[in-house]
Amino acid sequence: MQTVDVLVIGAGPAGTVAASYLKKQGYDVTILEKEKFPRFQIGESLLPCCMEHLTEAGLREAIEPLNFQKKTGAAFMRGEKRCEFLFEDQFTKGWTWTWQVKRADFDSKLAEATREKGVDVNFECEVTAVQCGPEKQIVDYKDAEGNAHRIEAKFIIDSSGYGRVLPRLFDLSKPSAFTPRGAVFSHLEDKNRTETASNNIFVHSFDNNKSWIWAIPFSDGSTSVGIVGDRERIEALAENNGEGYKAFIRNFEDLHGRFADSQLKFEPRAILGYSIGVTKMSGEGFVLSGNSTEFLDPIFSSGVTFATASGLLSAKMTHKHLQGEAVDWKKEYEEVIQKGIDVFRSYVSGWYTGDFQTIVFAKHIDEDIKRQICSVLAGYVWDQSNPFVKKHDTILPTLAKVIRMKEKAEEAGQI
Ligand code: FAD
Repeated sequence: MQTVDVLVIGAGPAGTVAASYLKKQGYDVTILEKEKFPRFQIGESLLPCCMEHLTEAGLREAIEPLNFQKKTGAAFMRGEKRCEFLFEDQFTKGWTWTWQVKRADFDSKLAEATREKGVDVNFECEVTAVQCGPEKQIVDYKDAEGNAHRIEAKFIIDSSGYGRVLPRLFDLSKPSAFTPRGAVFSHLEDKNRTETASNNIFVHSFDNNKSWIWAIPFSDGSTSVGIVGDRERIEALAENNGEGYKAFIRNFEDLHGRFADSQLKFEPRAILGYSIGVTKMSGEGFVLSGNSTEFLDPIFSSGVTFATASGLLSAKMTHKHLQGEAVDWKKEYEEVIQKGIDVFRSYVSGWYTGDFQTIVFAKHIDEDIKRQICSVLAGYVWDQSNPFVKKHDTILPTLAKVIRMKEKAEEAGQI
């Protein structure tokens, strides 16, 4: 039976960052990946903070020559209201830009660079069963021809994303508290891209903040366009090969005809019920990273950054463990990752209650407040010196309430 130090399940951003980091520390690392790459994946707009993780894992340099669209900020719109954040203005010292990527190309390059570092990356190998113990972990998988194999590892990092291999096998999933939502999306020609529709991500809020549209421009002139909303709306838009989606995107007033005559690069795809959590992020012989842990909502494009952050930290903790040092997985891993997730949870809630929109579309937004919110949008959600991180659970509703009262008083001519 093949024996390795660390077995990583999944070759997405979480898995490749974890594997590359551990290879640098001298371990024998194998990745088992179910799909043949390149494969489509959703999650195309990155956050600047993930550049730190890609750099530390030694993967950023491999991505640079691909000339992905540089992303320097994000714009939010609602009707004629517009608020643009530029990462160069952010409160936290950190990366001021990142990329918007077609994940098929991005993930393939990450996997290739990881293999070049000496990690054994195996495609079309689907993990089917896992037995964990104090000393060794036994992993069963099947290859493209359906042949069964077994591999033994000292430790497992589950980075299987939506596959959620260990949460499924070990019954670790827990439902999300968010309303079940979905998304329907495609890539479109974007010949009408203008100065106003810049190269950064655009998010249009509509339907009383219950639904929204993303537009994520790519460097090849096409743009990813998705609609997010409650389950019923998305199911209806996705019916009949996405006829409803196509009509909506072509006619949606706030897009000002940008995609009115655009050809689609592929038939619209839908994904539903993606918000999910876990009861724990680690156990005897394993740790979860990326979407295998918790996924909240796509609104703030935080998924890949959480994948790279947790991929990196899970690898560091695995290194410590394999060095024979005691690891307090709850404190040193789960609580750290959870802290970041909880910050975004407050912002996701604030988006759907409309508090976030009240703040960013206010007649006047204080520049310091904007800079602090900008750091959250850049993914720097572990910076406790930022009040919009530290007081994440109370600051949005409180500030939104003050703004609403002030605007009401202004309308009434009281101030
Ligand atoms: P993945 O990228 O899913 O990779 C996991 C890999 O594991 C896959 O390649 C899979 O084939 C493999 N795998 C699965 N099962 C097995 C198995 N049994 N054996 C072996 N391998 C297996 N995030 C952003 O950052 N920006 C965005 O703009 C954004 N938009 C989104 C829009 C929508 C509608 C949704 C739902 C999500 C969005 N996300 C976004 C989130 C993003 O998709 C994920 O957070 C991100 O892909 C997670 O990376 P990962 O490495 O954990 O998993």
